[in-house]
Amino acid sequence: MPSYVILDKCDGCKALDKTACQHICPNDLMALNKDLMKAYNREPELCWECYNCVKICPVQAIEVRGYADFVPMGASVTPMRGSDSIMWTVKFRNGNIKRFKFPIRTTEEGTAVPDGGYGEGKGDLKSQMLFTQPESCEHEFFTLNK
Ligand code: SF4
Ligand code: SF4
Repeated sequence: MPSYVILDKCDGCKALDKTACQHICPNDLMALNKDLMKAYNREPELCWECYNCVKICPVQAIEVRGYADFVPMGASVTPMRGSDSIMWTVKFRNGNIKRFKFPIRTTEEGTAVPDGGYGEGKGDLKSQMLFTQPESCEHEFFTLNK
């Protein structure tokens, strides 16, 4: 079920040009009411519950009502993003709380190489061929025709 904004918590990202939730939504669903400085999901039926807006909101003002198979009725699932991991807090309707911490990157923050090291001199990123072609295709052709 779609994301929704907890109005008491949302501060409209302090009037930045574009709010964090607008910036991150892959479906361009988040909008800002500039009179109230509160965000909202303008097309809830198009939300695919990817949790991006939930994770990026700096004040934890967005939640997603999870489906029953994933979040039993009355429970909640809340992600807290860190620089190298996300802590998921699951609160069950009987009050039990469980937390799971997952790593979200394999390199130090700020050290990722945009082209993955396959840039200059190592291949043509604009080519429609796979990085290993034509050698990999020749190998496959050879294997199939043995
Ligand atoms: S990211 Fe959070 S605080 Fe910023 S506008 Fe969206 S809901 Fe409000
Ligand atoms: S959960 Fe994903 S698709 Fe839905 S509003 Fe948030 S960012 Fe957009």
